[in-house]
Amino acid sequence: MSSLREILHLQLARFDDDAFAALANRGLLRRARKDLEKETPEIVEESSTRIVMRFGGQRIEFDSRGPAAARCTCPARFGCQHILAAAIALGSMAPEATGNAPAGAITTTDHQELRQPLIQALLDLRPQTLREHSGKAGYRWAWQFVQDLDIENDLTLAGERNVVITFRHPPLSFRYMGGSVDALLSNADIKQIAKYRVAAVLAFQRASGQACTGRTRISRRALRAARSTSSCGVPACPRMRNAGAGALLERDSRALCHSRCLGARRTALPAGASVAKNRRPRRHAA
Ligand SMILES: [Zn+2]
Repeated sequence: MSSLREILHLQLARFDDDAFAALANRGLLRRARKDLEKETPEIVEESSTRIVMRFGGQRIEFDSRGPAAARCTCPARFGCQHILAAAIALGSMAPEATGNAPAGAITTTDHQELRQPLIQALLDLRPQTLREHSGKAGYRWAWQFVQDLDIENDLTLAGERNVVITFRHPPLSFRYMGGSVDALLSNADIKQIAKYRVAAVLAFQRASGQACTGRTRISRRALRAARSTSSCGVPACPRMRNAGAGALLERDSRALCHSRCLGARRTALPAGASVAKNRRPRRHAA
């Protein structure tokens, strides 16, 4: 069982400057870094459910939801330099005070290793969870929004150590470094952000070949089949198709296979990669 510090350390290893800026803004990020030159945040309380740090005369509290859900005692309503500074400092500490890793070390430097669990976590998000986040009406809106997307032209998937999902219209990006749905950080402060977050998850799932019915589940067999294939071609994944697996396994494997390809290539969907384009859900999930 991972300690909270390990969970947060892994999440923070996936934060790059763009991700930190998305927690507040670039001005506050610069300010936080400047403040860190003068003062070092310290952990004043640590338990299995929360870590409290002190910095700049404020108390900053983290739980397993990560920095996006951190709270600070200062009056700022959204993100502040204290949370940013505390998060940067926490990310640079060894996961365990008595651990072998030297302070400042990220225990894994393999971006793919950091990113793969995020891809799986996004694919695993179920409609029920998404509905709870955005409400039924928000979920219906998001579902329809994603159905109307031209996946090849309206959506870009990127990121190196995290997952970045970008819509063309409206021009909106979400960064995912792990945690719950509300940990998807947007590049803009817009109204009704929850339904756009849900749309980002559904669009990611659709681009990965997973129909947005909420009925597709990646089986353990599919997972093993996809993992055992060293490489495959987006979009058709002929290796998978020719593997002689059943239709369900093929579909699920391909969904995972494509997500692996996306992860491996760290790139937007290539032209012609619209796997899900011709696969409409069998029924409306509303
Ligand atoms: Zn603050």
